[in-house]
Amino acid sequence: MKITELKGIGAARSKAFARLGLEDTLDLLRCYPADYEDRTVFAKIRTLIPGHTCCVRAMIADEPRESRIRNGLTLTKLTVVDETGRLFLTFFNSPYVKQSLVRGKSYVFYGKAEFSNNRTCMTNPVFETESRQSVTGRIVPIYGLTKGLSQYNVRSAVTQALECHSVPDGDPLRQIHAPDNMTKLQEARNILAYNELYALALRLAELKAERAAKAGNIFPKLSIDEFENTLPFTLTAAQKRAMTETDTDISNGSLMARLVQGDVGSGKTMVAAYAALRACRGGYQAALMAPTELLASQHYATLKPLMDEWGVSSCLLTGRITPANKAKLQREIADGKIDFIVGTHALISKNTAFSNLALIITDEQHRFGVSQRETLQAKGNDAHTLYMSATPIPRTLALLLYGELDVSVIDELPPGRTPVKTYAVNEAYRERIDGFIRKTVDGGGQVFIVCPSIESPDFADAVSVHERLSGVFTDMEIGLAHGKLKQKDRAFVMDRFSKGEIPILVATTVIEVGVDVPNAALMVVESAERFGLAQLHQLRGRVGRGRRESFCVLFNSTGGEQAAKRLKTLEKSNDGFEIAEIDLQMRGSGDFFGTRQHGLPELNLPRGYDISIIKKAREDALRTLGGN
Ligand code: ADP
Ligand code: MG
Repeated sequence: MKITELKGIGAARSKAFARLGLEDTLDLLRCYPADYEDRTVFAKIRTLIPGHTCCVRAMIADEPRESRIRNGLTLTKLTVVDETGRLFLTFFNSPYVKQSLVRGKSYVFYGKAEFSNNRTCMTNPVFETESRQSVTGRIVPIYGLTKGLSQYNVRSAVTQALECHSVPDGDPLRQIHAPDNMTKLQEARNILAYNELYALALRLAELKAERAAKAGNIFPKLSIDEFENTLPFTLTAAQKRAMTETDTDISNGSLMARLVQGDVGSGKTMVAAYAALRACRGGYQAALMAPTELLASQHYATLKPLMDEWGVSSCLLTGRITPANKAKLQREIADGKIDFIVGTHALISKNTAFSNLALIITDEQHRFGVSQRETLQAKGNDAHTLYMSATPIPRTLALLLYGELDVSVIDELPPGRTPVKTYAVNEAYRERIDGFIRKTVDGGGQVFIVCPSIESPDFADAVSVHERLSGVFTDMEIGLAHGKLKQKDRAFVMDRFSKGEIPILVATTVIEVGVDVPNAALMVVESAERFGLAQLHQLRGRVGRGRRESFCVLFNSTGGEQAAKRLKTLEKSNDGFEIAEIDLQMRGSGDFFGTRQHGLPELNLPRGYDISIIKKAREDALRTLGGN
């Protein structure tokens, strides 16, 4: 049933619902509450505790008195009583109160008790007659809203949807919207989460089985030691482990689909280089696809000398090279004259064809859609695939999310890296941090300023921050990079920043994952409370890539204590997996999945489900598929 057919929903309101992606009653049922308020606790007036919120059953003792105060604000006051005492109520701007509350009648009030002038008071309590119990005496769902919608609107629409689909009382769908009690709510969350996760796990396990049935090319042997000898550094044990795992995949005739997961700077590229070398020395082609021009050219700059040394021909194919040059490279790739190809989306353009593509590597794989990866896949025939990702995902989650892949984890940074010193601060530190920015630049370092939004006027947006800093540091050039700039202009600014021509860069999270600016020694994140911890950890990986001692400052601008506590985690830990796990516990896992990015059906997970469900769903799916 369309939302417009429900009571109380006209054209304007249905548009507001549509903004939340809600168009019919089934959408409404799938729109789980963001939170709940437990309004089941009742107290007598005498036992009310200041600061605590609860329900009170009481009778109206006098006529509500209305008065006008400044700015046309109205104030309504009245007193209510129960057998233990008297409670003073104040309502701001609520003219309906005078009509709705009748002297001598009883109601249930829900609000926060306060003591003032020796009186027990409540301000703007919610109330209703005792027979109704729709917003008091029960656990009340709190929905995510948008302009033009109130909690009342959404609750009323959801209630109608539950009726119109005759959702039975004990059904988890009813319990998630209208829980009988906390236990049933938790059960409902777990059941709904399980159903989603199980279906996903099953699909992933099927994909894996399909792949396992296929055969892959065998690349000639090359010992890791021999490879290491041509590098300017020694490999870490974790890198070697990932290489050994890769080696098995490409030596035993099966088809590789491996995810190499490791924190920013852990050296994933070398694992890719090793596999590519193996392919190319066997007479095959290998392609490395990166999400941006900058990343692609950085990869090429690192890998070309290495390939040269091994006598492997290579090229860089991006959108930026001239058409004539591009056509020439594409001919050489198609003829098999070039073996190792690094590039951007240009690799999947229809004019790019390969002669013998047997290994496909995608860097920052979550930045590509499934269709893009599949297009590249189709250019080879049963090519091995290697994905690289710096998104730190807790292991249990990774297992499920990447269920169709084998996973190698690089859990160690190359020696000599000093962890980024991180400070979570509030606005009181603003001036000090400005001073710190200047000191960093004066000392020859560069500074990233990261903002949560582009130009919504909330002072933490990139445009406002850029304007403010331009006023503070009048003698310095301050770059600005965000998603609304033309790709070309953004790349230009990024490029100049990475060459050291601009000392300070204000940016949204468009600053490329994996960008290597070793001279960047300070990152300041505005309104850091608006980011997930895992994301912040990934962001700060963009500093501390060179010799300089590096710092990350997290401004908690609007968030409260809970946010401050969350941000403190980053002061203490530098381990992406540990941080991801903590974030998972604190925020629920919804944000981690990003299944749409991974091209899987989007999950609709209720908040607050027990995360051990993830493991169970996967195990059950494997058992189902295994046939027992
Ligand atoms: P990421 O995992 O973030 O993609 P990279 O592969 O870009 O990391 O490596 C980061 C930097 O560390 C690069 O400059 C690379 O050359 C260097 N590097 C990689 N492995 C090692 C190592 N074992 N010892 C020292 N430096 C290394
Ligand atoms: Mg990388």
